[in-house]
Amino acid sequence: MEHPLNIYNTLSRKKEPFIPLHAPHVGMYVCGPTVYGDAHLGHARPAITFDILFCYLTHLGYKVRYVRNITDVGHLEHDADAGEDKIAKKARLEQVEPMEVVQYYLNRYHKAMDAMHVLPPSIEPHASGHIIEQIELVKNILDNGYAYESEGSVYFDVEKYNKDHRYGILSGRHIEDMLNTTRALDGQDEKRNPVDFALWKCAQPEHIMRWPSPWSDGFPGWHCECTAMGKKYLGKHFDIHGGGMDLIFPHHECEIAQAVASQGDDMVKYWMHNNMITVNGQKMGKSLGNFITLEEFFTGSHPMLEQAYSPMTIRFFILQAHYRSTVDFSNEALQASEKGLSRLLEAYGNLKKLNASDTSSVHVKGIREKCYEALNDDLNSPVVISHLFDATRSINSVKDGKETISREDLEELQQVFDLFLFDLLGIQDAATAAGGNSYEAFGKAIDLLLAIRQQAKANKDWATSDQIRNELTTLGFEIKDTKEGAEWKLNK
Ligand code: ZN
Repeated sequence: MEHPLNIYNTLSRKKEPFIPLHAPHVGMYVCGPTVYGDAHLGHARPAITFDILFCYLTHLGYKVRYVRNITDVGHLEHDADAGEDKIAKKARLEQVEPMEVVQYYLNRYHKAMDAMHVLPPSIEPHASGHIIEQIELVKNILDNGYAYESEGSVYFDVEKYNKDHRYGILSGRHIEDMLNTTRALDGQDEKRNPVDFALWKCAQPEHIMRWPSPWSDGFPGWHCECTAMGKKYLGKHFDIHGGGMDLIFPHHECEIAQAVASQGDDMVKYWMHNNMITVNGQKMGKSLGNFITLEEFFTGSHPMLEQAYSPMTIRFFILQAHYRSTVDFSNEALQASEKGLSRLLEAYGNLKKLNASDTSSVHVKGIREKCYEALNDDLNSPVVISHLFDATRSINSVKDGKETISREDLEELQQVFDLFLFDLLGIQDAATAAGGNSYEAFGKAIDLLLAIRQQAKANKDWATSDQIRNELTTLGFEIKDTKEGAEWKLNK
């Protein structure tokens, strides 16, 4: 009989507790990127926020099915159902297939997420791979009378829906205010009402991303994909739907309307939104010149950056604010995060070197509980970090001989750092970040070879000593003999 791999245990950073096959499920859907450009700070924040939630729920023993979609069709330049498809436009400029644009930026997105130690979701569905499900959704809404066809396109009838339900329930907006602020229709418009939104768009002749449907050759409206794919992978009702606060209106408002109009009730139990990142107090925007990609942060290659910032500095910087508050980027703020993080990592390194005393004069008990309390309080990562800084102060006092710590407390602190800083907040130290644990093991293996060579030299076994040196040199290592032994570096 074939035994199940029980893949939920391989998805988390945390090895304990072991999650049994029958553990309770949590369904979590997060709106992913539209892949037509490089990921920036605005992408890093939801990815990191929901990564922490994913890991924490897994740590609590849930089987979390985390779905994060890839928008590769239907996201128009002007979100109000107008303009060119963002991906098609890029494909036209680059003279490539739209899916080449998608794959190119998706690979780069994954690379940036990996660098920041963001775990991949359980399922990463593409909108373009779920056209059938989206057509099915549009049919249901039409059948229930909350949509109408116009010139081959299908629009959601917001006013009709609002008579039976409430449009604006998530954002707190009212349809009367929306009607007052939207432009009047010019009579040529296919929509009956300016607040209506597209469920299906008939493609113009020059539009290259198109699929057949009962209404026209065209493509789904942007809001359809999350409703259709959420239902497909998480069922008609699921626990958590997340994304950036900028998605509350219209995207998530429209998702609720689509769900209610198609199945009679909302699919989502809890909505969770991360706040925005500003740059020197200003909103990020391409036209403002303050649009810095993650790669530019990692390499320092943007005129606004005074230096390069490591992926872990970016991660720590984001975690130092509660996900619901705004974060303002500045060089100063990132440099402070960089210093703070190295203080924590240094303290963790010192922990292993401290000598235990019979008794503790530092207060270690309760830190674990306080960290749990903070995470249970709406994922309050900055409070977890402040408790770890308190522990850092204790570690440094013991190191300086001002305080004492018992063996038991030492072990507790080590476990608290392992659990909260590394497993749950997902911080990696520099050696691990440079290439995972394999990098560390690789370094140790070379050290071991050089130690064998030292031994051979001491035994006047020149053949072995030369063989190790020559073969390592051929592989690109530079070996330097010093009084203390041998040093090496890899020239590649
Ligand atoms: Zn979405």
